[in-house]
Amino acid sequence: MIEKRDFYINGQWVAPAAPRDCLVIDPSTEEPCAVISLGDKADTEAAVAAAKAALPGWAATPPAARLALVEKIAEIYQARAEEMAQAMSLEMGAPIDLARESQVGAGTWHIANFIKAAQDFQWIRPLGDGTPGAMIAMEPVGVVGLITPWNWPMNQVTLKVIPALLAGCTMVLKPSEESPLSSLLFAEYLHEAGVPAGVFNLVNGDGVGVGTQMSTHPDIEMISFTGSTRAGKAISIAAAETLKRVCLELGGKGANLIFADADDKAVARGVRHCLQNSGQSCNAPTRMLVERSAYDRAVEIARETAEATKVGPASLPGKHIGPVVNKSQYEKIQGLIETGIVEGARLVAGGPGRPEDLNRGFFVRPTVFADCTPEMTVMNEEIFGPVLSIMPFDTEEEALRIANATPYGLTNYVQSGDGARRNRLARALRSGMVEMNGQSRGAGAPFGGVGASGRAREGGHWGIEEFCDVKSISGWAE
Ligand code: NAD
Repeated sequence: MIEKRDFYINGQWVAPAAPRDCLVIDPSTEEPCAVISLGDKADTEAAVAAAKAALPGWAATPPAARLALVEKIAEIYQARAEEMAQAMSLEMGAPIDLARESQVGAGTWHIANFIKAAQDFQWIRPLGDGTPGAMIAMEPVGVVGLITPWNWPMNQVTLKVIPALLAGCTMVLKPSEESPLSSLLFAEYLHEAGVPAGVFNLVNGDGVGVGTQMSTHPDIEMISFTGSTRAGKAISIAAAETLKRVCLELGGKGANLIFADADDKAVARGVRHCLQNSGQSCNAPTRMLVERSAYDRAVEIARETAEATKVGPASLPGKHIGPVVNKSQYEKIQGLIETGIVEGARLVAGGPGRPEDLNRGFFVRPTVFADCTPEMTVMNEEIFGPVLSIMPFDTEEEALRIANATPYGLTNYVQSGDGARRNRLARALRSGMVEMNGQSRGAGAPFGGVGASGRAREGGHWGIEEFCDVKSISGWAE
């Protein structure tokens, strides 16, 4: 069993102030695979104090030197990619090939996009014509607290740590207690790259403990959080007393609007996207709305695609999906599948229980519900498992109304050969992102939502700006 009880504070690996072991469970076997420590107030205090002490030096480090350090981190991340893939696959159950390509790859992509954004980032610039001596400076927010989830561990960690470093912030990272191994490894990379002591600190812990200590800490100026809407609300309330900036990336219930003139692969692509990472993606297109004339065929393709999706252990190479992360997620998903059946959705693939050949591990059958109606639970709740809900629509207006009838607003999707319609819908859909005809977001595009999905904007230029305070200066000497 892997033993990783120490935290990374002030450039060193240190034992927790008080022992409090926490087992990491391999979701493919339900067996413990590692032991970490959950931190206490004393650990949080030590990490925040280290970050506070390191802030003046790091904030004064020229942006070019900060960028050079991030470039070094990028090299190490590449060189040690296999270790990272193994860690994520073990801790949260991503099949090893998905871990190598997508889980590690997401981090590689974000770091590269941040490097590009930082190369032409204007840390200080004139306000504009006709305002002599007026300048805008982008200053680091200060000590920041970073709280991340387990579903795309390095995706989220790189989206926070890298822009915070580039902006001149110092930080405390609290990764999910479900997936701590990848972040512990990432801390090794930062150490190897030569990040100065105190600039980056990592304390493991749970939400009520270290998470709340960070949200309420007077010396932390900002919390950047990715996770559930529930925890996002708790953090906002906890952070109010100290008036810190709170940036939230929360859940989603993305709609995928498929019109009769969509390309042939649109339905299968939508199903696969929904099932990817065992459905554990905040931007998963979980509500498929299909124009009535194409509906029966779409349900058939969805059934075939789900049934062709293999389920298996994370260690197995190949294109299958793995288990979901833990017992409570497994049980929640099973409960929602049962609710879908009870409420009258038509089960066309999958259903309750594990796939036939698996009797251990948190494996869920790829499940498709058809003939859903907007009020059904499966159309409203974020399931966070491999479950797709499909329903027909008759008009573009109806599709838009159903798509927008959710408190969430992260990513919506449109599949149509009609460019004018696509552009209309792209503007009318209430979400932070709209992806159309299978084209993924461009490099450096901001990731974030509206409403219950939170309003953070991560990645590229926007991601760096989140870690900056905008300072307005007048009387600047030319
Ligand atoms: P979670 O909210 O339970 O946990 C996320 C992190 O927050 C963990 O580190 C946890 O320890 C911590 N936490 C929990 N309660 C806290 C509290 N009261 N105060 C401070 N910290 C607290 O979420 P999860 O189950 O790990 O992740 C799944 C959720 O994350 C889903 O809802 C998913 O949609 C969302 N998510 C959103 C995005 C996005 O970018 N919008 C990306 C990935 C995941």
